[in-house]
Amino acid sequence: MAGSERIRRVANIVRRQQAAGHEVAVVVSAMAGETDRLVNFCREANPLYDPAEYDVVVASGEQVTSGLLALTLQALGCKARSWLGWQLPIRTDDAHSKARIGEIDSDALLASMAAGEIAVIPGFQGVTEDNRITTLGRGGSDTSAVAVAAAIKADRCDIYTDVDGVYTTDPRIVAKARKLKYVTYEEMLELASVGSKVLQTRSVSLAMKEGVRVQVLSSFIDDDATPADEIPGTMIVSDEELEGLDMESQLITGIAADKNEAKIILTRVPDRPGAVATIFGPLAQANINVDMIIQNVGRDKGETDVTFTVPSADLLRAQTLLEAQKEAIGYNRIITDGKVAKISVVGVGMRSHAGVASTMFRAMADRGINIQAISTSEIKISVLIDEDETELAVRVLHTAYGMDAADAA
Ligand code: ASP
Ligand code: MG
Repeated sequence: MAGSERIRRVANIVRRQQAAGHEVAVVVSAMAGETDRLVNFCREANPLYDPAEYDVVVASGEQVTSGLLALTLQALGCKARSWLGWQLPIRTDDAHSKARIGEIDSDALLASMAAGEIAVIPGFQGVTEDNRITTLGRGGSDTSAVAVAAAIKADRCDIYTDVDGVYTTDPRIVAKARKLKYVTYEEMLELASVGSKVLQTRSVSLAMKEGVRVQVLSSFIDDDATPADEIPGTMIVSDEELEGLDMESQLITGIAADKNEAKIILTRVPDRPGAVATIFGPLAQANINVDMIIQNVGRDKGETDVTFTVPSADLLRAQTLLEAQKEAIGYNRIITDGKVAKISVVGVGMRSHAGVASTMFRAMADRGINIQAISTSEIKISVLIDEDETELAVRVLHTAYGMDAADAA
């Protein structure tokens, strides 16, 4: 949410949903930029801030918007009230600043909604067993919304964002990107894990676990916009629901690019049992996530090169750690490259179709894009390339899989 103008828009959306015959619970986020501002206050007060007090400060952004939305709804003649995290309560564990939701008591909420009151709930916040305020990690109001929807068994959880849905790829890169009508939970999780940040990843796993049907749609709409019930946005649904829809089956659902990876090559690692464990053990202990791994074909003399990627933010730490372990691992040289990008194609259609990977490799070869590493899952293929070729690769693949919108320029 941004300023008062945005809150009025939200109030209008909510009022229209109620007028369409729904009982409505609204989960709000803070005003745009507000959480950043609050986080900065904490840093200024104490660079080594106590996460429990940080939560008290940053949770306040949503307290403000929940009260303001209730007031605005009342001004429009609706019955509305706010329910803070501790009032319901929304119970979480005590992992302050990144707490996980346990249970939500929905009795009072349901009674109030049945009496015609719109429930306004601040997202992002909860309360521990011993009544201390928690927050759920940045972007956590998405997760709050899904958790509340699950608790009250809502027909649908509409998430209003600054984009109007989930796209086949970033429309800023590919003008012919199309908005998807449907995407499955698993596809959404894979897309999120490779850099397409529409929703907090955790909210998608929760929706999948609880079977909450989620619609992503734009909050920048006016009164004559298509009503949410007509699904103007993108629905995130289960595999089964998608199959039941009898949609024209597509091979690939989305393409994502992630520039936040870095490549490390260790040359001439001894080719014997346990060698790889001596590399990745220390990295795991340091909480550094290794993503793609290639162990090259052995050279002669029982040696092999090992290539892998880590998050760019961890590159320096990983390098320092590996250099300290040089003797133990027994490699010859360490080569690092922060200028790489991971391009991923995602789609449940891959399960039943052959040739998805070869289309990818052929399209990239035709444009002279070199592939440095490959990894796959059941519904995803990722390749590592030179960062400078990111946009080109995404465009080329979007066309190769026949995903370009017909009508766009
Ligand atoms: N206000 C919180 C944040 O900025 C939660 C959210 O907006 O989802 O991270
Ligand atoms: Mg958000």
